[in-house]
Amino acid sequence: MVIGKPQWLCLAMGTLALVGCSAQQRIQAETLAAKTLISDSDEEQLGQQVKQELEQNQHVRYIQDPAITGYVQNVGNRVFQFASKERPNLHWQLQVIDDPKTVNAFATPGAYVYVYSGLLLAADNEAELAGVLAHESGHVVAHHTARNLIDAYGLQAITALALGKNPSLLAQIAASIAANGTLLAHSRSDENEADEYGARYSSMAGYDPRGLVTFFQKLQAKEGKTSQVMAWLSDHPATPDRIAHITRFIAEHNLSGSDLGAERLAPIKQRLASSH
Ligand code: ZN
Repeated sequence: MVIGKPQWLCLAMGTLALVGCSAQQRIQAETLAAKTLISDSDEEQLGQQVKQELEQNQHVRYIQDPAITGYVQNVGNRVFQFASKERPNLHWQLQVIDDPKTVNAFATPGAYVYVYSGLLLAADNEAELAGVLAHESGHVVAHHTARNLIDAYGLQAITALALGKNPSLLAQIAASIAANGTLLAHSRSDENEADEYGARYSSMAGYDPRGLVTFFQKLQAKEGKTSQVMAWLSDHPATPDRIAHITRFIAEHNLSGSDLGAERLAPIKQRLASSH
C-alpha cells in the first residue's frame, strides 16, 4: 500500500493522538498501524486468550458431535483456503458454539472464527453458511478488529502490548472482547468490505455468492417472529444499501458459482434439532 505524506503525518501524530486527521485519514493510519504493530503472533496470542475467556468466564460450550463439527469445518475450509492465502501465518480455527437459540457468528483476532448452532439452523443452504463464514474471515484478513483495538486503546498502549510490555492490558482486552463484543462491532464501511470478501471467497469456493444476500433477507423477514435471538443481524443490519452493495459487487466482478448445498445442510440441521 502506498501511503501519501499526510497519512504518515497523521500516524506520527498518532503516538499522542490522531488529532487533525480526517476520518478517512484516521482509518488509513490506524489500519497501517494495526498491520505494522500487531504481528500475527500477537494476534494469535490475543485470540487464544479470548478463547480461554469465552470458555472459562462466558461458559461457552461447543458442539461435540463430529458429524456436525466435521461438516462445518469442511465448509469453513472451502472458504478459509482463500483467506489464509492473504494471511498465511495465522492458524485458521473454527468452533461451533452449542446455542440453538442464537443466530450469530464472529471472528476474533488471530483467525478464530465462531459460529452458533442457531445460525446453522437458520440457514437454508450451505452457500448461506459459507457466505457468513467468508464474511467473518474478511474481518480478519482486513485487520478490522486489530484496528478497533488501536482506536479504543490508543497507539501507545497497543505498541506496549505488541512488545509484550503490558500483559495486564492483554488480559483486559481479551476479557472485554469475550464479555461484550464491543471491539468486534465494525463500522459500516468495514462491514461492506467484509461483505465483499464474503461474496468473493464464496464464489472462489464454487458457492453461489448470493448466499450472504439471501441469508440477510431471510433473517430480516424472520426478525421479531421467532424466539431465536438474531444477534448477527443486530451487528449486521440488512439495510437496502447493504444488499444493493453486495449485489452490485457480485455483478461488477462477474462473481459466479452455483453450489447451494441445501441437501448437505439439511441432515445436519436435523441432527442438531434432534439433539435438543
Ligand atoms: Zn461483519
